[in-house]
Amino acid sequence: MEFGAYSMHLARVSDIKCLDDVSFEKFLEIARGILSRGGVDRTIAIDDDRKAVENGELCTVLMRLGFSYIPVSRYTSEQIYIPLETIGFFDEIKPSRFRVFRDTEELLYRNWPTPLVRLARSSIEGRNVWAKLEGFNPWSMSVKDRIGWYMYRKAVERFGRVELGLLVESTSTNTGLAIASMANIHGSRLRAYIPSTVSITGELLLKIFGAEVVRSLKPLTVELIDDVEAVARAEGAVHLNQFFNDANFEVHLRYTAKELELQIREAGIVPKAIIGSLGTSGHISALAFYFKNRFKGIKVYGAVPEQGVAIQGIRRVESGMKWVHSVELDGILEVSLKEAVESVINIVRKDGVFVGLSSGAVYAAYRRLVEENVIDQGDYITIFPDHGFKYVEHMLKYIR
Ligand code: PLP
Repeated sequence: MEFGAYSMHLARVSDIKCLDDVSFEKFLEIARGILSRGGVDRTIAIDDDRKAVENGELCTVLMRLGFSYIPVSRYTSEQIYIPLETIGFFDEIKPSRFRVFRDTEELLYRNWPTPLVRLARSSIEGRNVWAKLEGFNPWSMSVKDRIGWYMYRKAVERFGRVELGLLVESTSTNTGLAIASMANIHGSRLRAYIPSTVSITGELLLKIFGAEVVRSLKPLTVELIDDVEAVARAEGAVHLNQFFNDANFEVHLRYTAKELELQIREAGIVPKAIIGSLGTSGHISALAFYFKNRFKGIKVYGAVPEQGVAIQGIRRVESGMKWVHSVELDGILEVSLKEAVESVINIVRKDGVFVGLSSGAVYAAYRRLVEENVIDQGDYITIFPDHGFKYVEHMLKYIR
């Protein structure tokens, strides 16, 4: 596509060679500019070999954000504003209309977006709760399918398929299931290191998926990272490392956040806040980064367990997490196991969807914000990380 008097044209990303990489901080700085301006304000200068000779970092960031096109001009960069849509920012979010998938990997990314549903009966006093149901992901039935898929793909890009024989990962179940599925699809193997707090159901599921399971005496996934890294080095295994791998943050920026923006538009709402939960902090940090740059004034809250409480998949910020420190959250709410379980039961008995304990924690955080009058009437997005089936044994003592 040519643009009037300018020598600029839009090139397909696959035709352009950008710089090899940018640091995470630089990535955030450039992405912040693109999201807050709603577009790109200059071209990438390319040489005759279609290699970036100016603004190479911008070029790399555009690729990593999943644009279809790159605005380029020959040898010198030009100042020109190009809106996000013009260069295919949302093109990748393309669900299969009639839900036909060529393989089980497509079943993941062409089944997106995961549903966004208003919980009509669980909404309190005009504060509409819209739940993004990540349990609709096909493998682990959780938000973690997204990172298992993306981290694996990035590793293949880096190391090549043959190197991906054995993978090792510290996981509280869901990431393990997601990586195990990718490993099964592509012919590699997973050894999952699980903390003491993981349920028997979680361990069994991992084994059913074909993973070798090593249970630790330590209660938190993060406490196992160094041991897993040492094993990876000793055995020449690949450690995707969900806790520090920026592909975790990036997949949510590139897919989860974009999906949610398109869903909000279709719903015709302007949400006042997004409420999520924190484990690695990948999904809530990416959503906070995206929406705070795109929608001025939107608030973002995160749910964590109360001190000394174990809620599978989520943990307290001081236990150590990466991306939450690069974004601004408006509040962190502490939730008890009882509140989380009661919320799950409340939601399924009112609205008929059965979600996991961290989803219950997110709903409990929403309820607290209502009760303390922090949020007023309007629309609120909650991110429900997984389905409830894994947690039935945790609920026994709460059911009458
Ligand atoms: N809820 C569940 C059930 C999870 O498995 C996880 C992550 O493992 C989370 C919440 C937290 O997600 P994140 O790691 O993106 O912070």
